[in-house]
Amino acid sequence: MVAPHQIEIPKELARLLAGRQELIRATKGFMPQDEGKALALALYDCDLPNDVPAVEIGSYVGLSTIYLGTVAKEQMRPLVSVDHHRGSQENQAGWEYHDPTLVDPISGKMDTLYLFRRTLELAQLADTVIIAVADSQTFAKAFSGEIGFLFIDGGHGIDEARTDYESWVPKITQGGHLAIHDVFPDPALGGQAPFLLYQRALVEGFHETIAQGSLRVMRKDSK
Ligand code: MG
Repeated sequence: MVAPHQIEIPKELARLLAGRQELIRATKGFMPQDEGKALALALYDCDLPNDVPAVEIGSYVGLSTIYLGTVAKEQMRPLVSVDHHRGSQENQAGWEYHDPTLVDPISGKMDTLYLFRRTLELAQLADTVIIAVADSQTFAKAFSGEIGFLFIDGGHGIDEARTDYESWVPKITQGGHLAIHDVFPDPALGGQAPFLLYQRALVEGFHETIAQGSLRVMRKDSK
C-alpha cells in the first residue's frame, strides 16, 4: 500500500492556474479542482526537453486540457489531445454521464468538438494544444516517437482502457510520466478499468509520484 502523497502547488503554478479559475468553473467535466491542480503539477514537474510532447487521451470539452495546457504553454511543450469527440460509452444516452445538450441534433450523435475548440480559444491555448480527432488506437499507429507525459482519461470500459494503455504507454520515454484518472481501488466507488491500468503500470516500470482523489501519477524509471 502506497502512502498518500501530500500535494503542494508551487507559487508559480498556483499563479498560472489562478488566471484560469473563471474558465475552469464554467467548463463542463468530471475533474474536481484538487485533482486538476495535481494533474497540472505532474506536468509541471516534467523535466524533459520541451520537444518531447505531452499527450492527453479523452478531451471531452477540455476541462483537464485547461490544467495541462496551461503548464504545457509555459513549458512551450506541445500537448496533443486525442478524442473522437463522439463521447465514451458512459456518455451515451441512457448512461450515467450522458449530457443531452452535447448531442448534435442533425447527426443525433454526441459532438464535443466544437465546445472543446471553444474552451481552447477561451483559454488561449489554441497554439499549444494539437487537436487530434481520432480513435486513440488508430492515431497511435500514426504517431511515432516518444512522449514525455501521458494522461489516460478516455473510455472507461475494460477493453477501451486497456487499448489506450497498450497503444500509448510504450511511447513514454524514460523519466516520463503516466497519469490515470478515475482510479478507484474500491469497486463500490467506481469502475475498475483505470485501477487495473494503474496496477499494471506499477509492475511495468512505473512508480507512483502523486495520488490525489482518483488521480494517480507515476514516473517511468529504472530506480
Ligand atoms: Mg475522468
